[in-house]
Amino acid sequence: MKIVLLGPPGSGKGTQAELICSKYNLPHISTGDIFRSNIANKTQLGLKVKQYIDSGSLVPDELTISIVKDRLSQDDCKNGFVLDGFPRVLNQAKQLDSFVKIDKAIMIDLSDDEIINRLSKRRMCKKCSNPTHLDWLVDGKCEKCGGEVYIRNDDSPETIKARLEKQKLPQDVIDFYVEKGLFVKINSLSTKQETFIEVDKILKSLVK
Ligand code: ADP
Ligand code: ZN
Repeated sequence: MKIVLLGPPGSGKGTQAELICSKYNLPHISTGDIFRSNIANKTQLGLKVKQYIDSGSLVPDELTISIVKDRLSQDDCKNGFVLDGFPRVLNQAKQLDSFVKIDKAIMIDLSDDEIINRLSKRRMCKKCSNPTHLDWLVDGKCEKCGGEVYIRNDDSPETIKARLEKQKLPQDVIDFYVEKGLFVKINSLSTKQETFIEVDKILKSLVK
């Protein structure tokens, strides 16, 4: 099961990726998470990507693609993975296709108004890196592990606006997967469980 999750920021890609990975025991590869942990650890890569992420821009392809390629070449990805946040532009989709054949590209869609609403309430867990939401917290802590939560740097109102403007999923990426017969689109529903039922219908059709 080699899955790509597409969709705007805040559509719940990360949350759905977690649910898929725990049900099907797959590695969750999130380019955003990889970048954020590199920034937190002040690595070379982290220093290079911080400015792009903080300003709501895309990280240049030459940095992003090699990271994904390296990660997917590791043993745990042999039988499947969920890619969350990659590809975001056509060149990334083409490069990905040159080193691995994916089974499905699932787009999780959401309106701009709802994106702004959700991102402004998004919280991240410091301990388990679960993406969560102000309304899901239990006593102000991560509902999964009880860890402290924080607001992502790039979830400020100005950066959210920049991300929506600069990071709209290009139609050519969608067309790329449509032409291969791999594209499906679902709407992000009001709860993660409801959305997962729709996602899982697609996955079940792959495993049989
Ligand atoms: P979200 O899904 O909320 O937009 P991510 O965690 O996927 O956030 O990504 C955070 C940031 O990392 C993006 O705003 C972008 O700057 C950078 N990034 C992540 N994935 C990619 C990618 N495939 N190509 C370029 N930049 C990326
Ligand atoms: Zn947690």
